[in-house]
Amino acid sequence: MFFHVRDLAVRANQFDVEIGPGAIDFQQGAKDKDTNLRQASPLKAAGKAALVMGSLGEIKVTGHITAEMEADCDRCLEPARFPIDSDFSLFYRPVEEGYGDEKEIDTGEAEMGFYEGDGVELNDVVREFVLLTLPMQRVCSEGCQGICPVCGQNRNQKECECQTEVSDDRWAALKSLKK
Ligand SMILES: [Zn+2]
Ligand SMILES: [Zn+2]
Repeated sequence: MFFHVRDLAVRANQFDVEIGPGAIDFQQGAKDKDTNLRQASPLKAAGKAALVMGSLGEIKVTGHITAEMEADCDRCLEPARFPIDSDFSLFYRPVEEGYGDEKEIDTGEAEMGFYEGDGVELNDVVREFVLLTLPMQRVCSEGCQGICPVCGQNRNQKECECQTEVSDDRWAALKSLKK
């Protein structure tokens, strides 16, 4: 669904959509850690796109997103689920139209983006919000034991006998200095 700035000038655009896995490319512009991020269930997005009154083509998209994302756990590499169920509010300014000033952008509004051309694509808004809202550390559970760096065993499944607390000689030297 595309929100054309010219249409929004006439009236706000309500939306209530269900987006199936695969329709949004979460790899687009992804950082390293997002490369195995995927959508695990249909994503629901409902809300409104509107032109901000008195602005030069500034578009505000607000609403609610529910989704279930999946990514490999940072520690054990097993699939981990990340449910999303939250309100969102994102602003988009046209790249041109005199908004190029860095000073103007720095208003403390973290969720301010830019659009090129005639408007904003809903799928792009959804992708941006999902990436913003996912936790920095993606683990399958708080207590995930991760993979043993010595033998590669997934320590959630089985304990291994490896000694991973390798004593560091420099650290020992520092400790003796302090005495
Ligand atoms: Zn894990
Ligand atoms: Zn081990």
